[in-house]
Amino acid sequence: MEFSEYTQAPINPIEIHKELEHSYLYYKNLNQQLKQRFVARTSAFIEQKKFVARQNLDLTNSIRIIVSACAVQVTFGLDSFMLDNFEYVVVYPDIYESPMTHQMHRGETNLNGFICLSWKHILEGIENPNDNYNLGLHEWTHALRFNSINYDETDYFFDGYINKWVAGAMHEYSNLKNGKHSIFRRYGATNIHEFLSVCTEHFFESPDEFKLNAPELFEQMCILFNQIPSKEGSAKIGVRNALLKTDVVTAYEQIPVFALEASLLRTLINMGTGLLYFGIAIFLLAIQLNIITSLMAIVVVFWGALVLNNKYFTIKFYENNLYVQSGFVESYANKLSINYSSLIKMEIFDGNFDSSFGTVFQLNYFDGSYFSKRVAYCSAIDIPYEKIETFLHQKKVTVLFPK
Ligand SMILES: [Zn+2]
Repeated sequence: MEFSEYTQAPINPIEIHKELEHSYLYYKNLNQQLKQRFVARTSAFIEQKKFVARQNLDLTNSIRIIVSACAVQVTFGLDSFMLDNFEYVVVYPDIYESPMTHQMHRGETNLNGFICLSWKHILEGIENPNDNYNLGLHEWTHALRFNSINYDETDYFFDGYINKWVAGAMHEYSNLKNGKHSIFRRYGATNIHEFLSVCTEHFFESPDEFKLNAPELFEQMCILFNQIPSKEGSAKIGVRNALLKTDVVTAYEQIPVFALEASLLRTLINMGTGLLYFGIAIFLLAIQLNIITSLMAIVVVFWGALVLNNKYFTIKFYENNLYVQSGFVESYANKLSINYSSLIKMEIFDGNFDSSFGTVFQLNYFDGSYFSKRVAYCSAIDIPYEKIETFLHQKKVTVLFPK
């Protein structure tokens, strides 16, 4: 998308500071260090964006600062904040007829790489800081969500965690859709993207009410945006790791809610190669029993047992953690314990997978620094799929059964 005329010029950081101090509540209540960070980010954002004025709007520095500040507020806890996919910011004086839908709009985020906003409604959004309407936050949240669609580089954590947020938001979202009591405004029921934007407006404008009425979703918002806003404006930044329980607790010392134990027989059948090693060892001993063949047989059997051991998985569902163990003997086994707050998704591939009898569980989780994948194979018979699905849904984990 190209626009023939636009403004792209830096603004002095002192001017940015003065404007925000005067009119931007979130900024006013930040501490000195965060103010510096906010100004630096706003300044970089303004330098990169191409602002287009429509319908004779006088595109002042103040407009460019406030519009950019809304984006910086949403992304303030994130590592990446440029929203590179959105090159143009089109500003109208008031509501406008969209060239796409021919309906009157206050704002829209276009996947072709531009965002349109009514300046009058941006102002209304910041002048009423507790009414849960904030056009700037709303549209920039869409932009953040869609930034990765055409462009690879966006915030690593946000993109990885958004699936977890969707799983966690389902309860509140369906309440709203089904007309049940909800603190969120009706428009959020349009689709899950609108729900995210509506939640974000509520999150920044009425954090106390949000936390009181939907504490779990509130916590997920804090993790997603890596900040805890306060109703006086301002926010606590860098809260993610404290909220995500990535530390490995000794979950396996407790009693699991339920467990999938590998079937030894199936493991043996599946481990055709392991048995083959064993057969070779017997054969070696049978043809000639001496010190060399005995040693070789021991090595071969040991190797077979090791391969077999690594294929033997136990999966236990604890109250707070999922525990995966590969190996018979716990003390020597490869163990992984994932807190459900960091477990994003479980994909279950049933049947003959890799020509083995059993089920493959693919786990996506956040390990404290990165989103990781772990494949756990389980040869348990009669896996309680429905039970797993219901249990994990309660834990806000997405469960998929790909064909
Ligand atoms: Zn929207």
